[in-house]
Amino acid sequence: MDVLTLLKQLDKTQWEKRGRPLLKGPILTRYDLQNKKAPQGDFVSKTSGSTGMPVEVQRTNLSQLWWNATNLREAIWHKRDLSLPFAVIRPSIMQELVQSQWGPGFALLGKTGPLYAHPVRGDLNSWLQRVQPGYLTTFPSILETIDLKSLPCLKGIKTTGESLLHKHPLIADMYSSEEVGTIAIQCPDNEEVYHVMENILLEILDEQDRPADVGRVIITDLTSQYLHRYDIGDYAEMGECFCGRGLQTIKKILGRKRNMVVLPDGSKHWPRIGSTEFRKIAPIKRFQAAQVDKDTLELRLIVEASLSQEQERALYNKVHEFIGYPFNIRFRYVEEFPLGKFEEFVNESMR
Ligand SMILES: [Zn+2]
Repeated sequence: MDVLTLLKQLDKTQWEKRGRPLLKGPILTRYDLQNKKAPQGDFVSKTSGSTGMPVEVQRTNLSQLWWNATNLREAIWHKRDLSLPFAVIRPSIMQELVQSQWGPGFALLGKTGPLYAHPVRGDLNSWLQRVQPGYLTTFPSILETIDLKSLPCLKGIKTTGESLLHKHPLIADMYSSEEVGTIAIQCPDNEEVYHVMENILLEILDEQDRPADVGRVIITDLTSQYLHRYDIGDYAEMGECFCGRGLQTIKKILGRKRNMVVLPDGSKHWPRIGSTEFRKIAPIKRFQAAQVDKDTLELRLIVEASLSQEQERALYNKVHEFIGYPFNIRFRYVEEFPLGKFEEFVNESMR
């Protein structure tokens, strides 16, 4: 199947009534996923998501097809003007980049404007003022540092990976993850809710694994051979919509906000600490990084076995390499993190 065929199919299936899924079988935790021998896929996604637990997921070409098609669906639902420049700011982008087209698949909808990509560093405001994008994709904590008033051409903002503290009228939110791709897209007729994609079965469960109106998001990805009842580490609320779409509906996604790291000169940065590489260095089950004062980071770790000095040094170097400032780094080994909302990076230096 190709992207256009899938897109046409989605145009019909969005109106089909879908109930709340009632699935059976064990919950797949991130810890299970870390230790699972997964069937070989077509490519690998690495992430530490919102829970501070680095995982690798074997993805399939089918899941890539859904990712491309649902990105086009987002553009159609929210009536994007394809001719405008598109700017992307993401930690995964290593260097500034200009392309003549928006990205994979968009050409199928028509001729698009250029794409400008920028890493999460440097003077983002000056760069954006030069580019004057019609659309911007980035993370909410980066968005908070952007002067939107100096971008008069901006028609839409897309954020992924986190929920928002302050909702901007231009923002159409998309709920996605590295493990499964697009999970839900904001309804084009009702900004209060998100509709869940057809390849995803989304359960909301309480701490005793019973269906609940507010609780843990459990994802079954129908394009994956093994992501069945996966506890993704987010919290959400069930919703309802009047638009007539039969897709599952959720209201709010909670618990994905990251903090910024503040350098001694006062500048703020998105904290990249190299967490997707951690498991290559040492058997780390879960981590949290905290900035505790102006030049010290504390790495809080839950480990399967004690770390050697060599492993600690390798982690130290990895964090330095990614964060781009020679912070003092201290290690703290913990048994568990407090229950409830978890942040992978916290800034405690301003408290
Ligand atoms: Zn709707």
